[in-house]
Amino acid sequence: MTTTPMKTRFAPSPTGHLHIGSARTALFNYLLARHSGGQFLLRIEDTDRARHIEDAVGQVIEDLHWLGLRWDEGIEVGGPAGSYRQSDRLELYQKRAEQLLAAGQAYYAFETPEELDALRLAAEAKKQTFRYQRPATLPTAADAERARAAGRPVVVRFRCPGHDVAIHDEVYGDVTVPADQQDDFIILKADGWATYHLANVVDDALMGITFILRGQEFLGQTWRHVLLREALGFPEPHYAHLPLIVDAQGRKLSKREGAVDVFSFRQAGYLPEAIINFIGLLGWAPAGGEREKFTLNELAEAFSVQRINKANAYFDRDKLIAFNTVAIAAASPERLLAAFKDFITINETPFTGLDDATLARVLAVCAGFRTFADVVTKAGALFVADEAIYYDEKAVKKVLARNNGEGFAMLEKLRPLLEKCIWDQGNIHHLLNDQAKMTIVWPPTDAIPPMAKVAQPLRVALTGATVSPVIEETLFLLGREKTLARIDRCLRLLRT
Ligand code: GLU
Repeated sequence: MTTTPMKTRFAPSPTGHLHIGSARTALFNYLLARHSGGQFLLRIEDTDRARHIEDAVGQVIEDLHWLGLRWDEGIEVGGPAGSYRQSDRLELYQKRAEQLLAAGQAYYAFETPEELDALRLAAEAKKQTFRYQRPATLPTAADAERARAAGRPVVVRFRCPGHDVAIHDEVYGDVTVPADQQDDFIILKADGWATYHLANVVDDALMGITFILRGQEFLGQTWRHVLLREALGFPEPHYAHLPLIVDAQGRKLSKREGAVDVFSFRQAGYLPEAIINFIGLLGWAPAGGEREKFTLNELAEAFSVQRINKANAYFDRDKLIAFNTVAIAAASPERLLAAFKDFITINETPFTGLDDATLARVLAVCAGFRTFADVVTKAGALFVADEAIYYDEKAVKKVLARNNGEGFAMLEKLRPLLEKCIWDQGNIHHLLNDQAKMTIVWPPTDAIPPMAKVAQPLRVALTGATVSPVIEETLFLLGREKTLARIDRCLRLLRT
């Protein structure tokens, strides 16, 4: 168990909605902070202007809010080390770069991109990894000035001290990066903007971060951060890198197999608590048990870095659907209604504009659904215009036209009865049940249950397909007028 309060951070480079892997990183940082009684901070790393997307910060914040992750310090909430957006902090990084320049721990360089490309190609031709060769005599500030005046891009490179770097990673163990595999990386770009490495290290130190927990893809960069910290005299935090998230084929998660960002799951009708529970188990498992059901608070209570697994974590979409089905069944009606309304707001569905009572009823009659998208499939047709009903060809053949138009005949028989029926679920049920009984013949001529002989033709006439809520609920929700109109339309269009 982690007993020292840890200060953790989530530091996204916003490029749009939060990727599910980044959400896992944010969650684990949140959990570690909560578990240890520490703090969780949110910082925006937007120094890569090429990848900058204006709305992206808002989208990331929205996604974190939706997941229910709150931070103690950072963007939006403020704090003593602000601003928490790196593009506001350029001077701070420049000062550190100057400090390193003055100490001889960094130096100017002014190759053009073309020159660097040529060096890279030359190295490749010799089957070598390109590493920037430090010049024998380092350029002076005056040299840099002249280069700048001549239109060359002047960057600042870190001068690697030439010793091996040992990283203790709390998931991957000890990693050593030998001196000959390091190169003098850029810390300040020609436009005066810090690179990710410098900004990240300076901010982690100034913001008092004590534990760095991030995706495995950053492990290969960590030696740079360790060296920068040493050079700047910053304290060393703990490091842990999180395993890769992969699909069934062991490939990096991709859009090919479905949603990969938090917002897409929200749009597809998942509950945040199901997503949290599911991603909480991507690369982490509780001590001694098979337990899989966790709330956010329960995860925080159980969390420990020691239980993070370094093997790739399999993103099992079926399991996520199962988690969601369970979460939906466990949610209170109020909770479910609120989530359903959110789903309606961010999607185009036939449910727009319906009152809460109707929406609650729709949810109740669809009980057992896996995602809100299922509710659209099951009950959406009840809320579209009659003319928008499209009759599924197979359903028409199988249910209405079969046996010499048996289904059509049933509709013709039901229509006047429904017209006279007092419109509530009980009465509708009795009416249909009586009709079902009348279909029974002895010996039976087919295997179709009597109620199906009544309900299925109605389903096809009213929704175009064979799936809908319980038949009396379907009729009740649709209302008498529309029920009759749809029966008429169906007979008119399809009965020949
Ligand atoms: N800005 C980096 C990212 O995009 C953060 C890496 C880190 O956590 O240090 O994920």
